[in-house]
Amino acid sequence: MGESYDLIVIGSGPGGYVAAIRAAQLGLKTACVEKDKTLGGTCLNVGCIPSKCLLQSSEMYANIIHNGKTHGIELAPKINFSQMMKRKDDVIASFNLGIGALFKKNKVTTITGTATFKDPHTITVNHKEYTAKNFILATGSKPTPLPFLPFDEKKVLSSTGALALKEVPKKMIVVGAGIIGVELGSVYSRLGAEVHFVEFLDKICPTLDHTLSKALQETLTKQGLTFQLSSKVSAAEVTSSGVHLTIEGGETLSADLVLLSIGRHPYTENLALDKINIIPDQRGFIPIDDNFRTTHPHIYAIGDIVTGPMLAHKASEEGYAVSELIAGKQPHIEYIAIPSVVYTHPEVGAVGLTENEAKALNLTIKTSQFPFKANSRARCSGDDFGFVKMIADQKTGTLLGVHIISAHAGELIAEATLALQNKMTAAAFAHTCHPHPTLSEALKEAALALVDKPIHS
Ligand SMILES: Cc1cc2nc3c(=O)[nH]c(=O)nc-3n(C[C@H](O)[C@H](O)[C@H](O)COP(=O)(O)OP(=O)(O)OC[C@H]3O[C@@H](n4cnc5c(N)ncnc54)[C@H](O)[C@@H]3O)c2cc1C
Repeated sequence: MGESYDLIVIGSGPGGYVAAIRAAQLGLKTACVEKDKTLGGTCLNVGCIPSKCLLQSSEMYANIIHNGKTHGIELAPKINFSQMMKRKDDVIASFNLGIGALFKKNKVTTITGTATFKDPHTITVNHKEYTAKNFILATGSKPTPLPFLPFDEKKVLSSTGALALKEVPKKMIVVGAGIIGVELGSVYSRLGAEVHFVEFLDKICPTLDHTLSKALQETLTKQGLTFQLSSKVSAAEVTSSGVHLTIEGGETLSADLVLLSIGRHPYTENLALDKINIIPDQRGFIPIDDNFRTTHPHIYAIGDIVTGPMLAHKASEEGYAVSELIAGKQPHIEYIAIPSVVYTHPEVGAVGLTENEAKALNLTIKTSQFPFKANSRARCSGDDFGFVKMIADQKTGTLLGVHIISAHAGELIAEATLALQNKMTAAAFAHTCHPHPTLSEALKEAALALVDKPIHS
């Protein structure tokens, strides 16, 4: 018998590493297996962190160009793309080390290599066997290609390739105007590329409340991005000159390269789940019960490989909760209060139900909207595009959804998340003092508008 643990976590993404640290904090002898050379999973290495680094750098550049003069700052900035990429890589590397240090501090053993099940209590990694009383599967997801257009990461890019370009392309087609697509499209558009989106659905970022999806499309269009909605790519050709796409109906489009961001699928290859009778569903997700248990009560699954939004903080919440469960606690995740953010400029932050979701549930609702044009801090910043939309239950006044499009909406949504998590009413929110002048006052005003009347609009 090989090394033995109370818990082995497979995958060191935001689901897996948080689960491993929490389990060790609770006294379980814990190991985390990671097949890649670095810890942190998709989020840290090829997801949230590198994309936010490039969004920040490109926004700084675009801001100086477009708004510097109004603020009395006249500069002619120049892009040093390799330095921009290096800064991103440095940030990633520092966090890679950081997770390793947290593992050491909490006495989590790191096992490097690909985990494969031999039987329900044994995995092999690099031909060595490890046994555990419990396992958490946290192996994440991978980008989905089009069947006729595989990724080559040179001209046909996944998000991973788009985060590692050597130069800014002249023209880029983004297939799929979801969150990852609009974020990476924004980066390259700000840096000077002509960016064109082809989207199958009739709106961008389809999980957003329809009002915000429309507002985001309008503002991104003003920034120079172009959107071709209700359009399906039906064929493609890659040549030395670039990529040529055929749209259903016959139109052809060409660009230097194409970014395919049509979605991600759960990644469970190499685990040999069939050997232990864990059968993914038709879409590849691992079926689990309310306590994250697979067909084996001691094997749990979390994060992108189970249903729900493919978000880092959702994976982390689940990782934390499962380790508490294994240690005998009774955790609870309030799924309605899992926020999501689009890190474009302006950002979009959303939590809870959209207006259409609330209506589909036959809830009687009231909605309010407060514009950032009437918010003093937004006016001081010269960045006053956007609004807060709040949705509450008509009878009880309980907040059901908060949707923000504005600068820093990703930060502002945290307050609304706290409110939803604690089932706050619009009145309780409205009667909470907010600092002045801050963007957060727009949330208070939107809540006031639900209860009675806002002051500043
Ligand atoms: C470009 C991009 C931007 C994103 N931006 C955001 C964002 O801003 N905010 C947000 O919340 N989410 C964002 N996401 C989504 C987020 O990255 C994922 O939801 C999150 O990483 C999922 O975490 P996870 O722990 O389930 O899996 P992952 O992070 O995918 O980690 C899984 C790990 O398991 C390892 N593994 C797989 N199989 C094995 C095996 N057999 N043995 C050992 N190890 C294995 C993998 O190598 C990987 O390291 C973004 C994603 C992308 C692609």
